[in-house]
Amino acid sequence: MALEETSPNPLRAAQQEIRKAVQALNLDPIVADLLSEPQRFVEVSFPVKMDDGSTRVFKGYRSQHNNALGPFKGGIRFHPEVNADEVKALSIWMSLKCAVLGLPLGGGKGGVKCNPKELSRRELEELSRAYVRSIAQVIGPEKDVPAPDVYTNPQVMAWMADEFSSLNGYNTFGVITGKPLEIGGSAGRSEATGRGCVFAIREACARLSIPLQNATVAVQGFGNAGSVVARLLHEMGARIIAVTDSTGGAYRSEGIDPISLLEFKQQTGSVKGAPGTTPLSNEQLFALECDIIIPAALENAITAAVAEDIRARIIAEAANGPTTPEADKILEDKGVLVIPDILANAGGVTVSYFEWVQNLTNYYWTEEEVNRRLEEMMVRAFQDVYQMHLDKKVSMRDAAYMVAVNRIAGAMKVRGWV
Ligand code: GLU
Repeated sequence: MALEETSPNPLRAAQQEIRKAVQALNLDPIVADLLSEPQRFVEVSFPVKMDDGSTRVFKGYRSQHNNALGPFKGGIRFHPEVNADEVKALSIWMSLKCAVLGLPLGGGKGGVKCNPKELSRRELEELSRAYVRSIAQVIGPEKDVPAPDVYTNPQVMAWMADEFSSLNGYNTFGVITGKPLEIGGSAGRSEATGRGCVFAIREACARLSIPLQNATVAVQGFGNAGSVVARLLHEMGARIIAVTDSTGGAYRSEGIDPISLLEFKQQTGSVKGAPGTTPLSNEQLFALECDIIIPAALENAITAAVAEDIRARIIAEAANGPTTPEADKILEDKGVLVIPDILANAGGVTVSYFEWVQNLTNYYWTEEEVNRRLEEMMVRAFQDVYQMHLDKKVSMRDAAYMVAVNRIAGAMKVRGWV
């Protein structure tokens, strides 16, 4: 989905929400000023030799938002619509996400403006290595630790870890997370965003007395997060009635088997046309009569117009920034429980944190151990946010921002920054 010029600016939305939290917490407004911009923003441009012999110049960014709680942490996005404000917003959300989960990490984010679907494997490797060379001075296990995001994956992380290790002169696996298992990746990392989201959904359903057995679910986006959420919820007895991706959608009122759907998508490149399903658009998906909707694609999927039509009881934001501030207000008035991105999709960075700890100690955990600790941290974070939501009578998003901003502000205060 393209982010058009007229789309709401996610950076403005994040800044507004931070200001609101700072006011609600009665903190010094300087905290909001400080959290509204990254501490450091790096813009790079670098050449890549293409297969046809030509050279192309690509633009990349790394936003280091805040490191009061620990090293900057956050993914790298490869997408044609990547831009400076988007990367800044995403880095703010990383700081907040790490704080909500109680991780000793700050927030960062990177991006390269490119269309990875049009690059050959060799071009993608060249681009990944060139980007890392251009930001190598500002990243490192104790400084800033990247990870995967939209259209990047463990293989891209492996090339980047390898390039950084070459520059450094020794294996430096702790520089990046989301790596393949062969070179210091963590068990459970590839599924962590989806699995963490499912823990949050389970907690929300329990609070609202919605049984997961037979609960009806619609998933927008069938990538790393959406496909895992769909599969795990299906395993727990929920009914996945609709799935869309960037090319189209699939609907089946009796429920779709997410494993067959993933196989179909891997073969054809799309969920559209999967056997036994009828096509449906994103607009139709959001307007479905169902219990839970999971936006798992890009920013600004739920605009005010979309929110008007929503009939679900829970929205779990597996994507970053899928709901615009106007839409948020409409959903709040309707009484829809929105599990905000900085809580709902924090499972990814939580297991990235575990991966980093394993790299630094060079001692590796089993998948059971990883999943057990992930569950413990997600349940605790959900409870912290839910309690704030009840105590202060604010939305779950406002509550999550308040929990996060309070923790970051506490660290900044003792460090003498504010
Ligand atoms: N890109 C993911 C996110 O937005 C994961 C970041 C990480 O693991 O550092 O949360």
